Amino acid sequence: MPEGKILKALSGFYYVEDREDGEIYQCRGRGVFRKNKITPLVGDDVEYKKENGREGYILQIRERKNELVRPPIANVDQAILVFSAKEPDFHTLLLDRFLVSVEASLVQPVILITKYDLLKPNEEGELSSKLEVYRNIGYPVVLSSSKEQTGIDELAAELHGKISVVCGQSGVGKTSILNRLDPNLNLKTSQISTHLGRGRHTTRHVELLPVAGGLVADTPGFSSLDFNDLEAPDLGGCFPEISEKSGTCKFRGCLHENEPNCAVKAALGQNEIASFRYNHYIQFLQEIKNRKPRY
Ligand code: GDP
Ligand code: ZN
Repeated sequence: MPEGKILKALSGFYYVEDREDGEIYQCRGRGVFRKNKITPLVGDDVEYKKENGREGYILQIRERKNELVRPPIANVDQAILVFSAKEPDFHTLLLDRFLVSVEASLVQPVILITKYDLLKPNEEGELSSKLEVYRNIGYPVVLSSSKEQTGIDELAAELHGKISVVCGQSGVGKTSILNRLDPNLNLKTSQISTHLGRGRHTTRHVELLPVAGGLVADTPGFSSLDFNDLEAPDLGGCFPEISEKSGTCKFRGCLHENEPNCAVKAALGQNEIASFRYNHYIQFLQEIKNRKPRY
């Protein structure tokens, strides 16, 4: 039985890249998926049957590792969180919001700093010390400039062999750097930058583009608001350095606010947890607690 991966979904067709010959087969789903209320997704690994040359139909969908809603893609390995060093300025609060929503989806984050060329030498220290905090937590951090072509190989290494979703505000340089990685992509700015807010019912064209030996979604993912579904006790799990300490808090279900014998507060006192990260945790916790119940 041929196997492959769905790289594109469009107008009822699924474009499957065959695992053996690397060719694209235009496949239909089958009634069975409608009955089981499971729709094939871009990123799915499938078994299919070939028919009429480059056509076929999907028979079986392999179990998914995960499934994103925006963009609708299965088996995403990582999210590339793109932040410019300048224009717009780098903000840890916004980065932490994205990190929480990515962590909550069980996707691995990679932090990509763009436009490094815009930074004056005397501004590098401040950014570096913030980024050091993220490196210490264990997040990969890549510094890059599309203009000066730096950090491109490093980013390519991160993308290799993985399915990635690119995230970030518009104007941070997402399109520019993807085009640098592979000039054949020739992405228009609007292509990767068209941001959210699209009508709910618009048919969405989603595609995984082959880039640097990996696959990258052509639509940006996540948003800083995605942690709307998160409950207060789960927030700590989205901060690896808080999560690491919380096992030794005195109280189970400690939210690390003012509870006695809190290991997270102790680590904060020892500077093992950066105060700005802890402050963002508390800020998000308040937002979650003050959230109106949704029905
Ligand atoms: P996107 O909206 O995130 O896809 O961002 P774009 O790739 O369209 O870039 C937004 C603007 O930033 C454009 O005017 C680019 O020329 C500029 N830009 C992108 N990368 C760099 C860079 O590395 N250095 C500088 N100085 N400008 C950049
Ligand atoms: Zn605690």
